[in-house]
Amino acid sequence: MKIIAIGRNYVAHIQELQNEIPQEPVVFLKPDTAILKNNMPFYYPDFSQDIHHEVEIVLKISREGKSIAKEFAHKYYDEIGLGIDFTARDLQSQLKAKGLPWEIAKAFNGSAPISDFLPKTQFKDLRNLNFSLQVNGQLRQQGNTSLMIYDFDAIIAYVSQYFTLKKGDLIFTGTPQGVAPIQIGDRLQGYIEKTLMFDFEVK
Ligand code: MG
Repeated sequence: MKIIAIGRNYVAHIQELQNEIPQEPVVFLKPDTAILKNNMPFYYPDFSQDIHHEVEIVLKISREGKSIAKEFAHKYYDEIGLGIDFTARDLQSQLKAKGLPWEIAKAFNGSAPISDFLPKTQFKDLRNLNFSLQVNGQLRQQGNTSLMIYDFDAIIAYVSQYFTLKKGDLIFTGTPQGVAPIQIGDRLQGYIEKTLMFDFEVK
């Protein structure tokens, strides 16, 4: 399986990092070794002093497809979950400044904690979905999918032009504002609406 992630999909987050609003979705990949499941702890890596949390809604692909038209994109995912796109911001800034690829800053071991997945039918309106991240019991990030530049269907249509989507692939759909550094000892709890989706520690 593969993990596809979308960057710069919420305007307020683009502004906080002083990036430009993209003309097309910003896409990157993470390998399966990035996944952390079942509230396993995240071990802070030696190579960074500035790991940031980015809480994101995650789609789970339910059938194979490529070059999927936007109007059919909803047929390609049945479940959603919540994840963190951990980012080594110090490494990413150095790489961005040189115009180099970001992989080591975004795709390292454990950089993609994910929750269990819930049927999308459980939610009234996927285009108006609240999600949030608490760190040590304090609200750090709060998003609503209505604020995405590219919605779920647009993302699937776009990325499937380049990558055949397979059952079980995951798509991280971008983070709202409020990204910030984590510290060893932090406890991260993520919610979709009022449902606790993940709860794990940084070690
Ligand atoms: Mg992200």
